[in-house]
Amino acid sequence: MSTTPQALYRDEGIVLRTQKLGEADRIVTVLTRRTGKVRAVAKGVRRTKSKFGARLEPFTHVDLQLYTGRSLDTVTQAETLGAYGKDIVGDYGRYTAGTAVLETAERLTDEEKEPALRLHLLVVGALRALATDAHDPSLVLDAFLVRAMSLSGWEPALSECARCGRPGPHRAFSVPAGGAVCADCRPAGSSTPDEESVELMRALLSGDWSVADASGPAARREASGLVAAHLQWHLERGLRSLPLVERTRP
Ligand SMILES: [Zn+2]
Repeated sequence: MSTTPQALYRDEGIVLRTQKLGEADRIVTVLTRRTGKVRAVAKGVRRTKSKFGARLEPFTHVDLQLYTGRSLDTVTQAETLGAYGKDIVGDYGRYTAGTAVLETAERLTDEEKEPALRLHLLVVGALRALATDAHDPSLVLDAFLVRAMSLSGWEPALSECARCGRPGPHRAFSVPAGGAVCADCRPAGSSTPDEESVELMRALLSGDWSVADASGPAARREASGLVAAHLQWHLERGLRSLPLVERTRP
């Protein structure tokens, strides 16, 4: 055993992912409130008598005590704050939306231990909404994605022109240009989504759930496609130099 003092710390977070390690251990990836994304070893969790096992599953909000290691930290205590998994995994729509929330949160936190309080809060809010069936799971997912992009500096322009800033609404929409574009700026290949779809995206971004819940299936489908295309475009181009807006410790 090393005699070097090991720094203990406490944080709460959402378990994003778990991977097997050896016979009985797991590596858990947690998006914490204060420390950002942490990868830590949870020893013995795959034994049936483990005291942590169920608390360190994806979708669980946990309070953790860890000690700092050279490459990976180690979980020494875990208490459940919110067991969202049991209400998410049994329903296909909630599960696929929830899985996309966790995967996107992991992809948006490129660096470990880079504080990401607002993203953590968005993930908690999305999982809680899915677990309580507060809204259609696809709306919860799209609201999460559009707000997470906004935190990352990629908020789509939904009223003013993405290029020149002229006040809208504008008919044309271009993912590479950054969202809605005016008639003068409109690049080749722009689409012309229905106004209701763009209004739905605005409602999801601002949290106007009365508008979002009242939207029709065609607008939901179209808005979903635009949100996914916008996210994909930025993830493919920007991930290595992710311009996270939030750099200061809370
Ligand atoms: Zn313009």
